[in-house]
Amino acid sequence: MMGRPAQNDPQGMTTGTGTGQTRPPLEILIAGGGIGGLAAALALATHKIPSHIVEKRAAFSEDGAGIQLGPNATRVLASLGVAEALSLSAGKPKTLCIFDGVSGAALAHAPLGSWISNRHGAPYWTAHRKDLQSALLERAREEPLIELTTGSTILTAMNQAQHIVATTHEGRNITARALIAADGLWSAVRSSCFNTPPLSFMSKTAYRTVIESDRLPDNIERDCVSLWMAPHGHAVHYPVSAGREMALVIILDEASSSKGWSEPVEPAIIASAARKFPRDLRALLEQGSDWRKWSLHGLPKPPTAAKERIALLGDAAHPVLPFLAQGGGLALEDAAVIAACLAETPDDVPQAFATYEKTRKRRSRRVAHASRINGHIYHLNGLARRARNRAITMIPAKRIITGYDWLYAWRAPSASD
Ligand SMILES: Cc1cc2nc3c(=O)[nH]c(=O)nc-3n(C[C@H](O)[C@H](O)[C@H](O)COP(=O)(O)OP(=O)(O)OC[C@H]3O[C@@H](n4cnc5c(N)ncnc54)[C@H](O)[C@@H]3O)c2cc1C
Repeated sequence: MMGRPAQNDPQGMTTGTGTGQTRPPLEILIAGGGIGGLAAALALATHKIPSHIVEKRAAFSEDGAGIQLGPNATRVLASLGVAEALSLSAGKPKTLCIFDGVSGAALAHAPLGSWISNRHGAPYWTAHRKDLQSALLERAREEPLIELTTGSTILTAMNQAQHIVATTHEGRNITARALIAADGLWSAVRSSCFNTPPLSFMSKTAYRTVIESDRLPDNIERDCVSLWMAPHGHAVHYPVSAGREMALVIILDEASSSKGWSEPVEPAIIASAARKFPRDLRALLEQGSDWRKWSLHGLPKPPTAAKERIALLGDAAHPVLPFLAQGGGLALEDAAVIAACLAETPDDVPQAFATYEKTRKRRSRRVAHASRINGHIYHLNGLARRARNRAITMIPAKRIITGYDWLYAWRAPSASD
């Protein structure tokens, strides 16, 4: 455990101490110190709102591999004061390269790099998740308005008239002004407070690793986000760790599921998948070791993301398939919006959370829908696959990216909106 002890005063806003000093307002409790939880705490701090993050793991996790950050995400990171630090370790791809994952044919080279940065006023980066997590965490540790506790799991919470009471796995009660549940895909708060059906397995598994760049086969482009589409699965790879490594993920159909982000993988599974891909990609896959997997899950219907003083954020609110690379981006957007809503009506948390829920609903559903469509397109077979390839080669390359202006141009609402 780290940081000062949790407050247990249900009084809410600033109150006198009897010594002439004022006590700070009761803080916002955040379940989960992943990407969304840390970003939410930092966004709250920009509005001078104190928060207390309770993270289940004994230490902040360095697990994970690559995570893509479109301009919508890097814009939020800049507003949190995290972009400069992350810039040192982020991958800065210049192009999106699309390949047919059966023949190996190159279908498109669409611009990223300075072109997308100029278009949207924010860059397209590809980061190792641990670098993103560390950049957020370092910034949170510098911030006196943020308290961090590790090794404690929030199991459930109850709304009261002026506050919430959350219960941890040790049986401790924490009183706070509100609870933001950023406790990820398998959110305990979502299950216990939002009456949602269990997650469903999407019959697909993501296998991932990182490879040192000096071990990359010659034909693999280093400065690209590369996408290889095939009926049995697809692969994506991009630079991370300032180009010293390449993150690689393959997504394959699978019958059985497992829980967790980093389950070890039998090398035979990757070897068998590699045989079905073209030679250049196969050579790359063969360089990978220490493969880890996570099973893709979804919710039949995302829950209403707010109930009085309890709100869901990031994967807890809306698990998305990774085919548009927006899981991290949506969590960062949520963080900026929930903090702006709380700053707008600081004395009325239920109103702030209702506005947050309304603001985010359409956006997260649109992103989830676009991700599902991409997954369908990537795995087309037969004539449909050929028609897809022909269409991609005929579209002006820039249009592949400008088709996502609605996604990348997103900005957090300002006070004047
Ligand atoms: C270990 C790990 C590795 C990952 N690797 C990748 C990757 O390689 N590529 C990728 O695209 N995405 C990865 N993700 C997922 C990615 O971070 C999220 O999809 C996305 O960033 C949305 O962030 P989030 O904050 O909603 O969830 P997450 O980033 O998953 O954060 C949730 C946090 O809540 C904590 N937590 C869970 N339950 C509780 C609880 N009851 N009480 C308190 N704390 C709790 C978790 O330990 C975690 O730190 C990984 C997530 C984790 C946790």
